[in-house]
Amino acid sequence: RQPLLIVRNLRKHFPIRSGVLGRVSAHVRAVDGVSFTVMKGETLGIVGESGCGKSTVARLLMRLLKPDGGEHIFDGEAVGEAGGISVAEMRRQVQMVFQDSASSLNPRMPVQGSVAFGPIAFGTPRDRALAQARQLLAKVGLDPVLYGGRYPHELSGGQKQRVNVARALALDPRMVILDEAVSALDKSIEAQVLNLLQALRRELQLTYVFISHDLSVVRWISDRVMVMYLGEVVEIGPSNAIYETPKHPYTRALLASRPALDPDNRRLEAPVSGDPPSPINPPSGCRFHTRCPFAEPVCSARAPALGEGDVMAHLAACHMQDAASGHSKAVREIRH
Ligand code: SF4
Ligand code: MG
Repeated sequence: RQPLLIVRNLRKHFPIRSGVLGRVSAHVRAVDGVSFTVMKGETLGIVGESGCGKSTVARLLMRLLKPDGGEHIFDGEAVGEAGGISVAEMRRQVQMVFQDSASSLNPRMPVQGSVAFGPIAFGTPRDRALAQARQLLAKVGLDPVLYGGRYPHELSGGQKQRVNVARALALDPRMVILDEAVSALDKSIEAQVLNLLQALRRELQLTYVFISHDLSVVRWISDRVMVMYLGEVVEIGPSNAIYETPKHPYTRALLASRPALDPDNRRLEAPVSGDPPSPINPPSGCRFHTRCPFAEPVCSARAPALGEGDVMAHLAACHMQDAASGHSKAVREIRH
């Protein structure tokens, strides 16, 4: 398998202005040195609490935000750089589906028009674009005769999200970024849309980046999973390794406190005790040290590195990962 997307040391800090002069007084370090690779045809899940930077990563990948620094390579070409791929062309090949299915569709346009909109903007004749849009609606499970002429407010949440998937596919993308794309749906509808996404990925050989706070859903759909905390990647690896033998104390806490299949609780976004510290002034060293049961003096003094390995490697950024994962308490004792 070949890499489709590579980011290295991606950074985005948002300035906070204050006072009458609006001077920049601080920065929110939303994404602070994030590196990962997505292989062609795989699904990379991204998990973490609200505010960990996962949505900012998505917006950077789409260039809805301009990164402050780092490399962004799509299919071997640097995005937005001379000699690379233009942002406009990358945006045709990478599409995004958001959580809020209603606000991403034009309320005054029949949904088949919303699906045809992108291709028309890229020069497809109107009649052909509309015919393709109706085919796409059928592909996502909406009868185009019944639904093509309807307006968004005439559709359910699940149906609107199917339209959004059709719209994302209209430009024949290679990658789709799904940011909480099924999170607003009822559990049974969510399962239907997830099954649809999985079938489309196989049929169209798509590559997904699947962002969600719902760990069960991410496990179901992802080949590999990346865990973020306060703007950084703390752990990455194959799904089974992340869920069965997590190495990072934060991942372990997230998994341990995962709400059971209680429908009222499944949207909880702060499963680890206490709130995460502010990304304006993140803790020194390991950013998780203020909440970590394994923290040692070294943890606040020095930031642990994620390290490097091949793309399937299971990596965690933790000084104590052996002790934390419980495999070798002895190692920890020897160190003292
Ligand atoms: Fe906990 Fe230290 Fe590991 Fe950070 S580096 S997760 S504080 S043990
Ligand atoms: Mg988000």
